[in-house]
Amino acid sequence: MLHDIAPHIFRNEFSTVTEVRESDYILYYKSNSLLVVKKEDENEIPHKSDLPEFSSIQDAIFLFTLDDKACFLLLECPVVNEDGFVYEEINFFRNYKRREIAWISILGHQLMSWYSSNRFCGNCGSKTTLKTTERAIQCTDCATTLYPKISPAVIVAITCKNKILLASGKNFRSNFYSLIAGYVDIGESLEETVVREVKEEIGIDVKNIRYYKSQPWPFSGSMMIGYWAEADDLQPLRLDENEISEAGWYSRGNLPNHPVNISIAGEMIELFEKNMM
Ligand SMILES: [Zn+2]
Repeated sequence: MLHDIAPHIFRNEFSTVTEVRESDYILYYKSNSLLVVKKEDENEIPHKSDLPEFSSIQDAIFLFTLDDKACFLLLECPVVNEDGFVYEEINFFRNYKRREIAWISILGHQLMSWYSSNRFCGNCGSKTTLKTTERAIQCTDCATTLYPKISPAVIVAITCKNKILLASGKNFRSNFYSLIAGYVDIGESLEETVVREVKEEIGIDVKNIRYYKSQPWPFSGSMMIGYWAEADDLQPLRLDENEISEAGWYSRGNLPNHPVNISIAGEMIELFEKNMM
């Protein structure tokens, strides 16, 4: 999955770093794109040493570390020689072969969005500031404290004997199918979300709900929580036309286009295909 980057080591602990080293990574995003250094073979995230005009740690926000390098975010565009740099869309990193670089690029974008959209307090409208003791934003007036927003969502692989239920969402590209998924709503357990989402989206009842594993999904700021479930395939499918354009039962060995294993959905579909669930 996207966050499985071994043997590289990602650490998200907050740190009060007082210095940016020459080899540390500097992430600057313009909307949905990341500033990278142009290289002949493969563009790279800039190190501090690539940004000679970089002046002070006051301009940089510590994000996390990858192996022995700290990763810093800049919210203001650094001064760069435009011939040597280019912007790369975040979606480009989905299938980037250096998985550890893909991971920090995509995760950095999630944090950038969070910092950028909370410059003012949602409670009183005053300016906010970054806390120095933890990864948090605090209002300078009413002291409201904000932490990165993570939205839990379930994703469900529904099976019946040697068949799996796959659905094509309204916003999917054509002829592309995945598992049923949906955000957790207020006042419900994860298992209740599974039952409700499946019923709402395709109109059937599921049983034998079993937890599989979870996956942080920074593209949408979600925590995807994977479940296996079983259902009787004789139940009529009633699709929520606002969400689902097609759904059906597919036999092992005869699955339509589906996600690859950078996502938990892809991994679960692959396990079903190999009869290893
Ligand atoms: Zn406030």
